[in-house]
Amino acid sequence: MSQHSHDAVQQAIREADDGLFACRICKVLGPLDQALTVWRNGVPVYGFCDSCAASHHILIRPTERGIEVKGKRLDAIVLSGS
Ligand SMILES: [Zn+2]
Repeated sequence: MSQHSHDAVQQAIREADDGLFACRICKVLGPLDQALTVWRNGVPVYGFCDSCAASHHILIRPTERGIEVKGKRLDAIVLSGS
């Protein structure tokens, strides 16, 4: 399975069509409506789930080259579940 960025974009579009979004921080696939997402040209280019948003200071701003994202963890990540 090739892992070009184009494939990742296509996968993100497919997931969004299914109402899902993979958090870019914890990589967990969850409901799209429970994630904060940044869209560009109809493509979800970045986003994160509520729990990551709560535990990170996240700055998103558009720049000439694209969208700049800065994330800073506020405290330790707590992993739970399987
Ligand atoms: Zn997350």
